[in-house]
Amino acid sequence: MLPTPAYAAASATSPLAPWSLDRREPGPHEVLIDIAWCGVCHSDIHQARGEWKGSIFPMVPGHEIVGTIARVGEKVEKWKTGDVVGVGVFVDSCRTCPACHAGDEQYCEYGMSETYNSYEREADHIKLDRLRPTYGGYSTRITVDENYVLRIPAGLPLERVAPLLCAGVTTYSPLRHWNVKAGDEVAIVGLGGLGHMGVKFARAFGAKVTVLSHSANKREDALRLGAHDFVATSEGGALKGNANRFDFILDTISAPHDYNAYLSLLRRNGTMVVVGIPTDPTPVAAGALIRNRRRLAGSGIGGIRETQEMLDFCAAHGIAADVEVIRIEQVNTAWERMLKSDVRYRFVIDIMSLR
Ligand code: NAP
Ligand code: ZN
Ligand code: ZN
Repeated sequence: MLPTPAYAAASATSPLAPWSLDRREPGPHEVLIDIAWCGVCHSDIHQARGEWKGSIFPMVPGHEIVGTIARVGEKVEKWKTGDVVGVGVFVDSCRTCPACHAGDEQYCEYGMSETYNSYEREADHIKLDRLRPTYGGYSTRITVDENYVLRIPAGLPLERVAPLLCAGVTTYSPLRHWNVKAGDEVAIVGLGGLGHMGVKFARAFGAKVTVLSHSANKREDALRLGAHDFVATSEGGALKGNANRFDFILDTISAPHDYNAYLSLLRRNGTMVVVGIPTDPTPVAAGALIRNRRRLAGSGIGGIRETQEMLDFCAAHGIAADVEVIRIEQVNTAWERMLKSDVRYRFVIDIMSLR
């Protein structure tokens, strides 16, 4: 066993505090990664505070991991010591169901093993091993199956790459799946970690990008990040003035809000995709969908293949997250700031501060 410093939440009402966990020596098909950077996702807060069902404590959050391979199992051929790699939101899946075969491991019919707040799998990769919870990247190292590791292309600053492992692929995937292309009118709703990556990707795909934000003071940043237009949703009449305008809306808001108000902004045959996961369900009016033959859909992260494609796209186009680097002791304050929408635009933990 490998004693590993970490930060954990002991319960849904405890702040994160120093903790130690045991990582395992890599098995034949596993690698041990020394973690250098870990991004802070709003999903870390939702789960550590028990806002989604089934939280497992103690919880070590973190699923935007970048680091270096420290050791490889005897049968590993893909990786060698010193390789710079990433781990995203999941570390295993069944490997046999149609979703896994299609490279959509995040939709595995048996459920993915998430990087934290989940369980490792038994040898068949189908059943969960409920005696072995998973622990995430707010820690100095992690042992992962070689097939659930991403290659980090050279050329981008690693602290700005870490957020791509969740915020990046979660916005890249729906824009690709719904074929957002040059000339499309695209709205990105909510300018946080996910939203700011959505702006960069939609712009790179040639769309006309508008940010819809309830923080009027983010206008300049939105334009600097690549948006063509900015709508301050807190200003009276702002949504009405943009009715029937967009081909595609990506909704990244983390808090409960009225989907119908945003659906009304879709033009004929337009699609709104929710990626934000507020705690409470939201009623949707049939009329809001029927008018203009609108579609409402959801999307979850991306599979391994697509995450690698996204990382390579970012390297080729010089795209990375805008980050504020913090030490691990600052993580509770960072969470409070995120809850006030005060993040520009992703906190990333320097894991050196845990060593
Ligand atoms: P974040 O950095 O905190 O950004 C969320 C943004 O939502 C805020 O910056 C703010 O943008 C907006 N917002 C917050 N409260 C609001 C309110 N009361 N009314 C209107 N807008 C509000 O969070 P994130 O890490 O990007 O994550 C966003 C959501 O996506 C979370 O729910 C997270 O769990 C979820 N998520 C889903 C997936 C997936 O696979 N589907 C993956 C990762 C994360 P403005 O200040 O611009 O209004
Ligand atoms: Zn995330
Ligand atoms: Zn599967």
